[in-house]
Amino acid sequence: MAIFSVKDLRSLILEGKKQNFKLASRIDAAAMIFVTKKIIEEPVTDINAVDYGSTIYHVESESEDGVFYDVKGQTCTCSDFTKKRAPSGFCKHRVATLILQRSQDLLKTREEQERKAGVRIFED
Ligand SMILES: [Zn+2]
Repeated sequence: MAIFSVKDLRSLILEGKKQNFKLASRIDAAAMIFVTKKIIEEPVTDINAVDYGSTIYHVESESEDGVFYDVKGQTCTCSDFTKKRAPSGFCKHRVATLILQRSQDLLKTREEQERKAGVRIFED
């Protein structure tokens, strides 16, 4: 079974900081949210919606349990984003959803590799 490890998270964090050092503190906070808080994914299933097929992420506040901010496309409902304080609009909630997406992509890739490896074993 494919796993996403602490080591994987650490490399994602380092990679992110290398790409944008201004986001360093938000990346650390986002990793904390990813590990200790809830991120609920809600697919937009209304076919009349402009963003049909996309996903809304309800990201739990780092400081207040049970408080959620909604990340939709490139926006977030938190004040860091709405008051335009987050560098390039990347508040910690948006960064947390990016970490989630990257972890899911990584898992998908690994599962694919494991499936292929499994097939090879049967062929031998
Ligand atoms: Zn936010």
